[in-house]
Amino acid sequence: MRILFVAPEGIPFSKTGGLGDVIGGLPKELAALGHEVAVLLPHYRGTKIEPKIVHESLTVPVGEALRFPSVVGGFKLDGVRYDFLDDPEYFDRDTLYGGPAGDYPDNPERFAEFSRAALEYAKLVWRPDVIHCHDWQTALLPVFRKTAYATDPVLSQIPTVLTIHNLGYQGLFPPSVLDRIGLPRRLFTIQGMEFYGRVNFLKGAIIFTDWLTTVSRGYAKEIQTPEYGCGLDGVIAHRAGRLTGILNGVDYEAWSPETDRLILANYSASDLSGKAVCKRDLLDRFGLPARHAARPLVGIISRFVDQKGFDLLVEAADEILKEDVQIVALGTGMPEYEEFFRKLAARHPEQVSVRITYDNGLAHKIEAGADLFLMPSRYEPCGLNQIYSLRYGTLPLVRATGGLEDTVEPYDPKTGEGTGFMFKDYKAQTLVACLREAVRVWGDRQAWLRLQANAMARDFSWRASAMQYVDLYTRAKKERIPLAWASSVQSGVGGEARAAAESSRKG
Ligand code: ADP
Repeated sequence: MRILFVAPEGIPFSKTGGLGDVIGGLPKELAALGHEVAVLLPHYRGTKIEPKIVHESLTVPVGEALRFPSVVGGFKLDGVRYDFLDDPEYFDRDTLYGGPAGDYPDNPERFAEFSRAALEYAKLVWRPDVIHCHDWQTALLPVFRKTAYATDPVLSQIPTVLTIHNLGYQGLFPPSVLDRIGLPRRLFTIQGMEFYGRVNFLKGAIIFTDWLTTVSRGYAKEIQTPEYGCGLDGVIAHRAGRLTGILNGVDYEAWSPETDRLILANYSASDLSGKAVCKRDLLDRFGLPARHAARPLVGIISRFVDQKGFDLLVEAADEILKEDVQIVALGTGMPEYEEFFRKLAARHPEQVSVRITYDNGLAHKIEAGADLFLMPSRYEPCGLNQIYSLRYGTLPLVRATGGLEDTVEPYDPKTGEGTGFMFKDYKAQTLVACLREAVRVWGDRQAWLRLQANAMARDFSWRASAMQYVDLYTRAKKERIPLAWASSVQSGVGGEARAAAESSRKG
């Protein structure tokens, strides 16, 4: 099968978060399973490639204007073909989506061009059996396909799959954006892309895509509820028959303590001595006294945003530090959380240290050197760091939500089994109680070692997930969209879309 990935970021070319890791890992695994896979990404300033021209110019309407981006790349890496949309005015920028002043104001145009260009690419450069889009930045692809390209003889035969990596980011813009990106105003209805007075890109894709996935089974259920649905639970629930949760895999070539070149000493489940070396190295790098090495070291690697549960930590920090643990934190994000960590470190210089930066090498060193990994997320579609932590024998302490609940097995004091620690209620005191339990287990070396051995033995490699995606692509190819549904979309928005949107409002 020929599978086209259209994504706004992917390692090793661009990354701001977990989506970048997924686009680095899944296509490679599909290729290893014998499929032909191409990945189309924007050509950002930081994308280090030889910009060999593959296609001189695609003609892409963006609002009133015509743009003529080219396609560069065309090389293979790990069996996967990579192409990049080259439009310097839109993508030759230092960061992917925006800077400290906020998102780029022309993000709708940038990603409308990218999504529409991807359809042209699928027609003219590399013709796939299925197109797999990711998140709000490529959400317009299924929308264009079922509107401007609804009668296109080639594209109307190619099913689309959209993966929601994080429902918290929907691409919300004022109504005037429809003219700016060249979508008909008739889409601005409750049955279409209207969302409380604004245009919602992701909602458009949820309605128009043939198939939907998200990155864990738990999250697939959660997003159909008002608590986690971010206002789209009704629309999503209506398409539940077309929604699957497929857990992300991780790339153990990059994230294994046995072979990791970014850590000071390698180690394995059968010989953990290197982990102690990594812990001393980590304390040293973060300027924390090693005399505390006998106490648990808590690691945090994260975007500093509300999603990740930092408001709980703000409330719980003093109680946690009474347990005589140390904390190393790495991340960037909301100024109030950066400030919180700086102040906490200033008040507890022997216990807390923070690096406000993005540093992949340091992320590996934290995974290897910490004893516990803290991830008290308010919601978590899949989460990668807790899975990396398992492999490094760094026991994750997580909140029971989404992918965290699907990947971490909570310690059971009766049997001594488990791979980490878990709390349910989103409250500072439950987080503190859970951490106290972890510290108590830390005091029992045999119990701790058993949990570490369990954790390190778990396997979340891409193979099983990639096979589930292949099943889905095969179904998508076979099961044509019912004719009535396709024609109602061509003549506006109706049928399934209307019912979906109405149930969204009720939700
Ligand atoms: P999300 O995608 O919501 O940010 P995930 O846990 O799914 O969360 O993925 C985060 C990815 O980004 C992981 O690979 C993590 O190591 C990486 N990461 C996040 N912040 C940093 C940082 N400050 N420095 C290095 N890596 C980071």
